[in-house]
Amino acid sequence: MSSSILRFAPSPNGCLHLGHAYSALATWDAAARLGGTALLRIEDIDTERCKPEFTQAIFEDLRWLGLTWPEPVMHQSQRLDLYMEAADRLLEIGLLYPCFCSRSDIAARATETDPDGAPVYPGTCRHLPPEEQIRRIERGDAVQYRLDVGAAMARVGVLTFTTVMPTVLDRPQVRYARPERWGDVVLQRKDTPTSYTLSVVVDDAAQGITHVTRGRDLDAITDVHVLLQMLLGLPSPTYHFHRLLLDDAGRKLSKSDGAQSLAELRAQGWSSQDVRRAVGF
Ligand code: GLU
Repeated sequence: MSSSILRFAPSPNGCLHLGHAYSALATWDAAARLGGTALLRIEDIDTERCKPEFTQAIFEDLRWLGLTWPEPVMHQSQRLDLYMEAADRLLEIGLLYPCFCSRSDIAARATETDPDGAPVYPGTCRHLPPEEQIRRIERGDAVQYRLDVGAAMARVGVLTFTTVMPTVLDRPQVRYARPERWGDVVLQRKDTPTSYTLSVVVDDAAQGITHVTRGRDLDAITDVHVLLQMLLGLPSPTYHFHRLLLDDAGRKLSKSDGAQSLAELRAQGWSSQDVRRAVGF
């Protein structure tokens, strides 16, 4: 039996569209080429935007595409205590700190932007005295926890990870990670004691993922994932970044920009073969 394990990890905050179908099919295709297994993980930490009916629709759409996966499916909403434990480890080694800034505080002080074009956190709360931190937490101020990326990098030194392109069977290449360009990222949000960044790292390790296949839009943030793997003593998978499906205006397909859902296409008479053909599988 092969030891390659891959995963498709959608967030159930809307309906899947052709871009998701491409990503899912690319993952199952890569698993087949490697003689491995593709798992499904539901990334539902955002309780405001994620809905059980979207999770059910994901199962339905993927089955309609002809994909199968081992049960049980991992749901991130059931694993908050594990993410909190990982955050506590970072707090104990002095790499996580409470931040009380609002979005507008950050926008007003930021001088740089991150690879996604958002303001880089200017470090306002990085060195707040402990008594001030405690006073504000006890007062009930909204608090999020950030990773001190500068201190973390000083601790790990040179950081590299492995990619395979253009297919998962190509020769592995080593790349340098530069997580500093994201600034001190939030690992525990105000509304939930984790974040995409922290959960994805904990879960890829928990599921024994050997190859992460994901869209190129997640290439740059992978640098932070690799840093967290080092800090938490977790194995680093091999990364494969696949192309993105673009709309006529050259933007990544998205529901908010009017991409039709797979359910809508199905209702219009598309077969799963039509979807596979449309995205090149
Ligand atoms: N849950 C993330 C998303 O739907 C992707 C997961 C990943 O590849 O890390 O965009």
